[in-house]
Amino acid sequence: MADCVFCGIAEGRIPATTVRQDRDTVAFRDLNPQAPTHILVIPRRHIASVADTDRSDTGVLGAVLAVAVEVAAAEGLDQSGYRLVINHGADGGQSVGHLHVHLLGGRPMTWPPG
Ligand code: AMP
Repeated sequence: MADCVFCGIAEGRIPATTVRQDRDTVAFRDLNPQAPTHILVIPRRHIASVADTDRSDTGVLGAVLAVAVEVAAAEGLDQSGYRLVINHGADGGQSVGHLHVHLLGGRPMTWPPG
């Protein structure tokens, strides 16, 4: 989508600090990090929200999760731990309408989240 910032990153039109990319996914550092490591993993295909997926999307959903796990290990977080987050809608705190998984690590996380 032309006006989607994450589509712009996936297509190379908008700069980002990309840490990994493949045919289906792109992982890049969050512009406003909430932890020492804060990386977003997105599908290249525009999907507005996790709520817009169903069982036919298990391939892409599995891919973004698997990439998040791989990136976490590459960032040295697999022993210390990390958090994966998907926000949906206003109450979920979603601010960008392109499905993304947050990978947060490098500090202890609290629960419940704010
Ligand atoms: P959410 O609130 O779950 O929709 O998360 C959106 C995230 O995207 C926020 O953590 C923002 O800091 C991040 N973000 C927004 N624009 C950019 C950008 N151009 N490059 C990297 N991260 C971004």
